[in-house]
Amino acid sequence: MLLVGIVFLGTFFVVIIGFSIYFTLMLYYSRKPNNINKKRIFPTVSIIIPAFNEEKVIFRKLKSISEIKYPKEKIEILIVDDGSTDNTVQIVQSFLASNSSGIPFSFLSINERSGKSNALNYAFKFCKGDIIVISDADVFFEKDSILHMVANFNDSRVGAVSGMEVMLNPDYTSATKMEQGYRSFYNTLRLGETNLDSVLMCESGFSAYRKQLLEELPKKCVCDDMELTLRTREKGFKAIYDPCVKFYEYSPLTLRSKIKQKIRRGQGNQQTLVRFAHMMFKQKYGNFAKVVLPFEFFMHLLSPILIPVSVLSCVIYLLKSRNIFFFLVPAMFLIVDFLVVFIALRFASPATPITLQFASKKNWRLSPVLMVINFLSLQMCLLVSLIFLIFGKSMHKWEKIEETRRL
Ligand code: GDP
Ligand code: MN
Repeated sequence: MLLVGIVFLGTFFVVIIGFSIYFTLMLYYSRKPNNINKKRIFPTVSIIIPAFNEEKVIFRKLKSISEIKYPKEKIEILIVDDGSTDNTVQIVQSFLASNSSGIPFSFLSINERSGKSNALNYAFKFCKGDIIVISDADVFFEKDSILHMVANFNDSRVGAVSGMEVMLNPDYTSATKMEQGYRSFYNTLRLGETNLDSVLMCESGFSAYRKQLLEELPKKCVCDDMELTLRTREKGFKAIYDPCVKFYEYSPLTLRSKIKQKIRRGQGNQQTLVRFAHMMFKQKYGNFAKVVLPFEFFMHLLSPILIPVSVLSCVIYLLKSRNIFFFLVPAMFLIVDFLVVFIALRFASPATPITLQFASKKNWRLSPVLMVINFLSLQMCLLVSLIFLIFGKSMHKWEKIEETRRL
């Protein structure tokens, strides 16, 4: 019984302390001013839009891109389809035939579906721009976003820039409300990582890279965005989030599709983190290797195992020993830890996505409960994706979430 008790206490404290330290650190860094030397510059830009069966959104996407503010002779758009079976191809072709924007669009087509990463690899070969932007078909951004985004490349340390996702349907269902809570946590981490050194991942929804950093993605890569971001850091450049660059996307409405999406994205993250584990603790990768990577490794690959072990050992201990006093110290610790984080969030001046959320009257009462539910459900999804990863079920070709296109 003693062993079970020790396992419980060990896993419990490692998880709680690990998350609390990283979160508090990132909250602190996210509120520091960002020191990127931004300046309006006009490098040549290629925007890649991967599209598979996107008939519901592709016209709107192309139309909005054709209205962007950027010198037309310095930009090109590449749509890459691989064997869409709906009307995507016809819609793209008719758009191209009537395109009078002055921006060159090209349509690349691969006969058979081979997955998004493979489609991106194909498109990389045709890009002429010095900066390559990748943007999903179901994502929209402002007309001047490209201008703001590329301004960051004036700073020679910067190799990749990501926009920040704004959900278009935060109040629709409980699944979207939960996602909104998660996004504010996620964005806080990314802003903190930006100011500390470099982010774990840019968003495939809307991000930009220096062309020299782009090399072929591995076959069956699920997480093209994290792969490209980690390579950026590996080659000595910073990958950053620019809070001025926003992009808009609908989030899945049902818990079922949200879970499916989280499991797929989780598997991608885990696969890529394992591949880049060699960067950890290496001096030349600075704070990224000392702080960001070890924590993200912990969050994606260790804590999804530690949490169920902790819960299980807790239950076994309780059933066998019936000694409730044993839980007094961990319970007190949890309450104090939670209160400290809660007070920090509630009373820190609203400067980051998560403090903003806590400062809003509507949200702050609900937020702590949602945060815990969110945290545990995300960790469960990561456990499932880890199991799939171990048993070799690859998710590089996925079923799209229809409801995010119908809105
Ligand atoms: P989610 O946002 O992670 O749920 O992923 P989505 O289903 O929205 O896909 C992101 C982008 O990748 C969209 O633009 C899709 O059309 C595109 N995509 C997904 N699978 C494929 C594929 O097999 N081939 C190509 N060319 N694009 C794909
Ligand atoms: Mn999407």
